[in-house]
Amino acid sequence: MPESILNGHQWLEPKGRQIAIESGQALQLHCVRCGRDFITILPSGIRYAVYVSIVSFFRLDDDVTARWLTEACPGKRPLGDDKDRVRQVAEIRVAQGQSATFKVTSRSRGGSPKRA
Ligand SMILES: [Zn+2]
Repeated sequence: MPESILNGHQWLEPKGRQIAIESGQALQLHCVRCGRDFITILPSGIRYAVYVSIVSFFRLDDDVTARWLTEACPGKRPLGDDKDRVRQVAEIRVAQGQSATFKVTSRSRGGSPKRA
């Protein structure tokens, strides 16, 4: 499968975050530059543009998915994306006990964060 999705996006986790969804497993990709979210359904490898809520991903309209998958990373949050994110066509629930949002890892042990 071509990695055309890379398109200059900068993923929060380079290989995506593996997450259990109700129908199986998926990889979640979040671009820190443009804020777009995608999931890859495993093992099919089908990718969708999604809106992320706490307990679900909302698959966006196929138009949005097609556009987001082919566009190069805009480098910042495009204003029009808010309109795209309300074009939700299906809910993809995460498995119980999982959260769709990336956890902000606060490392209390080991290296302490640099203080400015
Ligand atoms: Zn991006």
